[in-house]
Amino acid sequence: MIIDLRSDTVTKPTMGMLEAILNAEVGDDVYKEDPTANNLEQKLAEMFGMDTALFFPTGSMANQAAIKMHTQPGEQLIADKWAHVYNYEGGGVSFNSGVSCKLIDGNRGMITAEQVEESINPPDFYHSPLTSLVCLENTTNKGGGACYNFSEIEKIKQVCDTHQLGFHLDGARIWNALIAKKEDPKEYGKVFDTISVCLSKGLGTPMGSVLIGKKDIMKKAMRVRKVLGGGMRQIGFMAAAGIYALDNQMERLAEDHKKAFEIAAVLSQQAYVKKVEPTETNIVIFYLEKEISEEKFMNDLLQKNIKISAMGQGKLRIVTHLDYTESKHESFLKILKNYK
Ligand SMILES: *Cc1c(COP(=O)(O)O)cnc(C)c1O
Repeated sequence: MIIDLRSDTVTKPTMGMLEAILNAEVGDDVYKEDPTANNLEQKLAEMFGMDTALFFPTGSMANQAAIKMHTQPGEQLIADKWAHVYNYEGGGVSFNSGVSCKLIDGNRGMITAEQVEESINPPDFYHSPLTSLVCLENTTNKGGGACYNFSEIEKIKQVCDTHQLGFHLDGARIWNALIAKKEDPKEYGKVFDTISVCLSKGLGTPMGSVLIGKKDIMKKAMRVRKVLGGGMRQIGFMAAAGIYALDNQMERLAEDHKKAFEIAAVLSQQAYVKKVEPTETNIVIFYLEKEISEEKFMNDLLQKNIKISAMGQGKLRIVTHLDYTESKHESFLKILKNYK
């Protein structure tokens, strides 16, 4: 039995999800004739109180498409220094959009309205790139699943309005934030122009992200998705998995959070652990004491069929998910307590 805690992307579809996939009604989505994809898109647009939505193969492509839709080459976007769009999308911001990133030194991947305001280049100063977009991430990935206070997001929205900037949310793990903070997705729909959400992390589908947005900006989405190579055919099979996950596998994220809190609590009592970052959702980030090498620790765990990930700078990461069962949780906690 392998206990894989590297990411919440390692899950396999549940029986119920496989049945939903088998029974899906499909069509050619490039003609917009896939009824299940259309249903999923409409369901998510309604859930967030936004106008429209479009299915993408990956979260990276959904974010990159949004950035392309919001910007012109030579312009600049504002994001936290740990942002996924900057660090983990292969340099796509410059490759796809010819746009640079002004990086903010935020707190666990989160930035403030004040920091955004300070980072905007004056639009009439033609020597510097024109600021045109602000990208937030919620929950933060490299920030260890931290969630924004919604009031800060609203303040950033005001700054965007004052300076006529686009406002995009990388919501790959927005589900975890909604459950942890008991928030209403419609509040998010009111402030952002575009929101990308991921179906294959906490929700556990085999693939797929959806870009949700306001009508005007989303007019460009089909064309940009096509250019990026993301125009697909009978995607209703994957959309059916997404609908099933939203209806049946979202509320259970609270269990992932509870298990993550329990892991963090056990780790913080161990002599070999130097520090555990605050745990708010399903990600635990911790550091080992100097005398214990990361490599040895990870190898010792691997001997016991446990996989976790190293994120550089001494950070170790554990992510709980759908396939991390109660019995796996019990054995893992025991191993952590007995580790020498
Ligand atoms: C996983 C993730 C994405 C999208 O990743 P893909 O692997 O391209 O689907 C985007 N943003 C954040 C914050 C993520 O964690």
